Formats: sequence, C-alpha cells, structure tokens
Amino acid sequence: MKYGIDIGHNCPPDIGAKGIRQEDDLTMEVGNKVVLKLKSLGHQVIGCRPSSASSVGNSLQQRCSIANANNVDVFVSIHFNSFNKQANGTEVFATSDTGRSIAKRILDNIVKLGFFNRGVKDGSHLYVVKNTNAPAILVESCFCDTKVDMDRYNAENIANAIVKGLTGQSPLPPDTDDRTSTLELQQALNRLKIRDDNGKPLVEDGTIDNETKAATINFQQIVDITETGIAGATTWLAIKQILAKPVLRANHAAGTVVKYVQYRVGAQTDGIYGPGTAAAVEKYQKQQGLSVDGNVGPQTWGKLIG
Ligand SMILES: [Zn+2]
Repeated sequence: MKYGIDIGHNCPPDIGAKGIRQEDDLTMEVGNKVVLKLKSLGHQVIGCRPSSASSVGNSLQQRCSIANANNVDVFVSIHFNSFNKQANGTEVFATSDTGRSIAKRILDNIVKLGFFNRGVKDGSHLYVVKNTNAPAILVESCFCDTKVDMDRYNAENIANAIVKGLTGQSPLPPDTDDRTSTLELQQALNRLKIRDDNGKPLVEDGTIDNETKAATINFQQIVDITETGIAGATTWLAIKQILAKPVLRANHAAGTVVKYVQYRVGAQTDGIYGPGTAAAVEKYQKQQGLSVDGNVGPQTWGKLIG
C-alpha cells in the first residue's frame, strides 16, 4: 500500500495549537514514528508536508497536491486538538465510506490506550480531507491543552495505534522481545549471514538469547546504527532495505545497503560505493563464478543472501 502521511502544521505560517505541549512537536513525533513503522512493514510512504508555504491555505493545498500527484492509496493527516483545557479524547474525521471505516479502526485503537472516544466525525469541512483523491482521514489524536490527555500521551503508543488501524498489522515496536518478531529477526539475520560472536548462525526459536543479541549488535555495527542489541524500528528498516535487494552500481549508490554489501565483500564499510568497493565486488563475483561487472544485481544478490 502507498500511504500519504501528512504531519500536521510544521510549515510556517501553518503552525499548530499551543497547549501544555505544542501541536507541531506532537504531530512531528507521532508522524515520524508512523512513517518508520509503515516502512518497516513494507509499505510505501509519501510524506505530504511541504517544506515551505506562502500561507496556511497554500500549505494545505500543497499537502493535497503531493498526495494526489503520487496517487496515494490512503491519505492520513495527523493533528492534535485544543479547546478549553478541559475537553479530552480522540476524534477522527472522514468523508467517504472507506475513509470512515479506516477512521473507525484508528479511533478504536487509540481509544484502547485509555483516551475518551469522541467518535468518527464528518470531515467535509476540512480542506485536506475534502481535496485529496484517495480516501482521506484526519486524526485529532488527543488534546494538547488538556492535562489528562497529555499525561496519557505517548508517541510510540499513538503511532502504533495509527499503524495498526491503517494496516491491520502490528507494527514491530522497538524494545520488544515479542516472540514472533524475535523469530523473524533470527530468520532475517541468518538470511543476511550475520553471525553471533562465535561465528555461528542463530538458532531460530523465537527466544531472545545472548547469541541473538550479539548478532543484532554485529548487524547494527555493520550498518552504523546505535548498538542496542535490540531490533527497533531503525534496525528493522535497515534489514528490510537490504532484503529488498536493490540494484547497486559503482558511483551511484550510498547508504545502509552499501555498508552491508561492503561488509560481505570485504571492503571498507564507509557506505559509499566507490572504486574500492567495485573492485571488492568484482573479486567476489569472480570467486562465486558470476559474470564480473562490479555491480550488485540479481545474480550477485542471489549469492549474497539467496
Ligand atoms: Zn492541527
């Protein structure tokens, strides 16, 4: 699925409500997490927030144009409410039937966190809901000027609730040792040929053990992620990017996937696909009996991770 994620406001003069916390900060916190989580579940995400705008109207217009130009499947605008420091809870706006059913799923998941259920509401007065082609919703996550809501607010939980409502899938939360995601992690690390500290493949049993932690740290070291030994959203994103096996060419590629390939072919892991890396890839191709071109295409990926 291709999701258009619209992080509300954060584009002066389009700025959000001021409360106990600022709406701009909250939408950014939650929105960034939603984006990472959707990507880690394998979805495509189009960020719809413009980088600058001449007016509030222009900011809203650009958000819709970005979503429409990219033909997103669903458009989600993330906001926080404010009123009289007393009102509290969650409401989600929609116009179409599809929008309303998505809105209800998201609302139900946020309400499970303890927020008051203000319902799914008609969003036909809201510019971004009305002017996007895809089914569109606007989430008023909770009230940024009400203490009870701000005490309950947790960006991670709200982002998980939004992603769960959108996809029906449970996002892989950071700092989890949930059995299913541990098993997936062990399978992924084995497929990537990342070993524990004794150079051994992991036992795929869904149990977080010292070997799994060590292999996770080894992977994080290779791709230059903070070494926590726990596979959070950033680690999963890196794993999924590699497993997508993008074609890499010398002087055209950089980043996480390049670091992984450099590690595998014995080049310096600086993340830049320069001549040194190309030479190491050629050597690897020769050893594996592949045609030698210094690019990492389907054949080379086939040997690297199958
Ligand atoms: Zn707002």
